[in-house]
Amino acid sequence: MTIADTAAPALPDALSPGRLFIGGAWRDASDGARTDVVAPATGAVLTQVAKATLADVDAAVAAARAAFDSGVWSGLSGRERSRILRKAHDLIRAHTEELAQAESQDVGKPITLARVVDVEHSALQYEYAASLGQHLDGSVRETPGNTHAYVRREPLGVVAAITPFNFPLILSSTKIATALIAGNTVVHKPASDTPLSALLIAEILQEAGVPDGVFNVVTGSGADLGDRLVTHPDVDKVAFTGSTEVGAHVAELAGRALRPVTAELGGNAANIVFADADLDQAIGAIIPAFVFNAGQFCMAGPRLLVERPLYETVLGILEQAVPGVPFGDITAPDTVIGPLASQKQLDKVADLVRQATDAGARVVTGGHPVDLDGGFFYAPTVLADVENDNPAVAQEVFGPVLTVQAFDTEEEAVALANSTPYGLASGIQTTNLAKAHRVAAKLDAGITWVNGWALLDPSVPFGGVGQSGFGREYGPEALESYLRTKSIVFNLDEGAGR
Ligand code: NAP
Repeated sequence: MTIADTAAPALPDALSPGRLFIGGAWRDASDGARTDVVAPATGAVLTQVAKATLADVDAAVAAARAAFDSGVWSGLSGRERSRILRKAHDLIRAHTEELAQAESQDVGKPITLARVVDVEHSALQYEYAASLGQHLDGSVRETPGNTHAYVRREPLGVVAAITPFNFPLILSSTKIATALIAGNTVVHKPASDTPLSALLIAEILQEAGVPDGVFNVVTGSGADLGDRLVTHPDVDKVAFTGSTEVGAHVAELAGRALRPVTAELGGNAANIVFADADLDQAIGAIIPAFVFNAGQFCMAGPRLLVERPLYETVLGILEQAVPGVPFGDITAPDTVIGPLASQKQLDKVADLVRQATDAGARVVTGGHPVDLDGGFFYAPTVLADVENDNPAVAQEVFGPVLTVQAFDTEEEAVALANSTPYGLASGIQTTNLAKAHRVAAKLDAGITWVNGWALLDPSVPFGGVGQSGFGREYGPEALESYLRTKSIVFNLDEGAGR
């Protein structure tokens, strides 16, 4: 099967091929090696990027260290850094089309969503971080005796920012913009499968006036480079987003080095639909929550819990509606569901659905890969009659797959929702607001949405509990994890300090 004959625009020159960005200059890997970047919509090679060596990691960290120690960035006032990040925000908006095309082709995102979600939220992150630059004040403490004490908030130093394949632009922006506004310097390692937007952001930050060495990008394999980056003696903080498995490894290494780490990890969120829900509104939350970004969404809502009187009704609506969600051609403006980001991800999803049906799940719709233009497509899938230990319920699928379970009481809904080790996001669909408050307080998750899904804003903290990690991104809470305090206490006794 083939999709419409609509060719995607050529990638910008900076991506043909992509090079490393170290110390304000573009360079090849020290051994000249490159790696292919594959377009998920066609399976064809899109471009190549440099495959960094350990020597390149060392060079990037050295550039970031030197830039930090020179004070060229950390020595600016928050207000001055704000101005530069605001310029970066303006440039992101000015380059919306270029960024959206690169993100769409690299990750397999439908172009409209790449524009209105990925680029838009990246711009919002820079805009919000810039606003935080006005609020980096320390404080004066009321101390007894003849002393004067104040607390400064200072940047940490060099931040290693490591991001996953699914939302490269947004997830790098939350880390980079917040680290930079606090006065840190950054070495960014994007995911191997989706490295392109990081290189465009490097161009944008340089044009915005971020000094050389303050922001650096190394592309290459996390398995080869990650340990060196995380344990490098000149790295002061690790900001990691990715799988629980790799996150635990990174946190262990960072812990041994006594280095602060934030870990934004996997999710497997429950979406609870009570019988009193506004059904149209609930369906409007349920479907995007599992099909958006082809389900490769840490805060997806793949576990649907429906109060029993509505169970069959909801299944019937999903059976009719889900196959109608626009699917396929990522260049078409109305497409909602594109391919998975890699063959590996497609195989993983297909295998988990197979395991789920072997364990007794009933396929309501979907349940198979889709042969479309050589891309990594999987049909949006709804699975009913699943027990809590079904693999598609118990594990993070990270694909366009929804499991649907029935519950009878509020207590049972909460118990089912909290029954996986993850705790990133959760949702409640109900018209009973007292119930919504009561249940929200009981859900083990970093965020709960009521009568909607993925209602995100850069000012609202976001992060996990349990196997979903620790630390928060977004909001002033995120800023704190890129700062440290220093207390300064003066002896005011007569004669002291003379
Ligand atoms: P991943 O395999 O854990 O990779 C994440 C990043 O870590 C990539 O850049 C990867 O590089 C790198 N990496 C691999 N081995 C490493 C090592 N030993 N040391 C340091 N870094 C290493 O995750 P993914 O498959 O890209 O992303 C999917 C996962 O991310 C899902 O579990 C999803 O839930 C989670 N996620 C969480 C959030 C959140 O906010 N909580 C947001 C988005 C995604 P390579 O690409 O080169 O392997």
